[in-house]
Amino acid sequence: MKMCVGGRWVETGRKIEVVHPYDNSVVDTVPRAGLADVDTALSAAVRGARIMAKLTAWDRYQILKKAAEKLEARAEEFARTITLEEGKIIAEGRFEVGRAVQVLTLSAEEARRIHGETVPLDASPGGAGKMGFTLRVPCGTVVAISPFNYPLNLVAHKVAPAIVAGNAVVIKPPSRTPLSALKLTELLLECGLPPEAISCLTGPGEEVGDALCRDERVRKISFTGSVPVGERICRMAGVKKVTMELGSNSPIIVMPDADADKVAEAVAATGYSNAGQVCISTQRVIAHQQVYQQALSASKSRVEALTTGDPLNEKTNVGPMIRETEAKRVEQWVNEAVRDGGRIVTGGERRGAIYTPTIVADVKPEMRISCEELFGPVVAFTPFQHVEEALALANNSRFGLAAGVFTESVDTAMKFARELQTGNIHINWGPQWRADLMPYGGLKSSGFGKEGPRYAVEEMTELKMVVFHLRD
Ligand code: NAP
Repeated sequence: MKMCVGGRWVETGRKIEVVHPYDNSVVDTVPRAGLADVDTALSAAVRGARIMAKLTAWDRYQILKKAAEKLEARAEEFARTITLEEGKIIAEGRFEVGRAVQVLTLSAEEARRIHGETVPLDASPGGAGKMGFTLRVPCGTVVAISPFNYPLNLVAHKVAPAIVAGNAVVIKPPSRTPLSALKLTELLLECGLPPEAISCLTGPGEEVGDALCRDERVRKISFTGSVPVGERICRMAGVKKVTMELGSNSPIIVMPDADADKVAEAVAATGYSNAGQVCISTQRVIAHQQVYQQALSASKSRVEALTTGDPLNEKTNVGPMIRETEAKRVEQWVNEAVRDGGRIVTGGERRGAIYTPTIVADVKPEMRISCEELFGPVVAFTPFQHVEEALALANNSRFGLAAGVFTESVDTAMKFARELQTGNIHINWGPQWRADLMPYGGLKSSGFGKEGPRYAVEEMTELKMVVFHLRD
């Protein structure tokens, strides 16, 4: 595909190959953008932001509504693109497209809710004769930087709120999975988005992403990706609005009153989607010693039933990781855990980029498969004795994105809801669950700011205060 610079589809002299993770075949190529393209895209965005600010909320609603309809009509084509570039199974590709349709629809609907409020200035000393209200206005130019693991939906979560809020947007998709973002850009232009208001620059993050984040023409950066890159962007950004959606090592806590079969169902469903390459994937199970063995053996049966293979085969449950190097890294971390006393209960085998769904038992908190973000199809079980110990184990992490708690007690559930240091908490399910309308984002090193269209619109607008000084 070509890349999009201010609505124009262009090539550059250099190309990046997009490779299917399952068999390394070349799916397509995209141009390798350089600094001159960044400058052209941002100059267009400055003009685009002015054009966008003049559109009515109705116009912006219409663009996104049409885009949702078109995406739904082309769902299978987009799902295939996702699977080919990212390697997730086709059912997950289809699910991702369905979610992106939701995100476009929900964002369109926000057009009706972007407004300010009156402020009762005469309630302050010296406020007599003053009348005031807030105006919510676009930021101007938004830079949207997305990760490889949801190549369509996480672009939609940035671009659609940016558009409905009246901004121009420059997308920097991941180099390994740029095609879905380019196709979404094409679709938005077909639906009437002003050309200057969108660019999608394919090129290396350290060059293209860096230049975009430093540039003073940018007012807002919305980033989803790893902690090291997020930290670097925060240092580079200067005085800009920034949203950071970063990684995690999300736990499930299993209390003694938990239903072990339900735990096992959640482990299998929330630990291995997209080969464990989900920011809220279940990575740790912290189980009370009374139910530890039961939860472990029930999970083992469920996980052993997961099949691996070609992601385009409808019968496959778990496809390849994004690259063989990533599968080798996971293999190394698991081997390290085994060397230090962990026990493989199931899985632990690698075939190229496929790492078989794995459970490791008796994991100590200091092992890398527990304390770092593993981002692979492995779940680590650790026992505990007291509720405070479970809380300490769960919170003893630099990350804080999501957690699950299994208990039949409302009091215990509320205790965890209050004391777990994570942005999302699920009672009686695993951490990997998200409705696209809910506020979503992490605490601690997992980031700051929220996505979910209603919340993202707040982050992609600015609030102005207008004061009338009346004569009488
Ligand atoms: P990544 O390596 O951090 O890359 C993310 C994006 O940043 C890519 O588009 C990348 O471009 C770009 N980038 C790299 N260096 C940059 C720089 N110096 N300046 C600006 N942009 C730069 O992450 P990933 O491997 O694609 O994705 C996996 C990570 O994302 C995991 O940590 C996962 O937990 C996290 N994630 C978080 C959420 C959430 O909602 N919290 C959701 C999904 C994923 P290139 O590809 O060209 O390097």
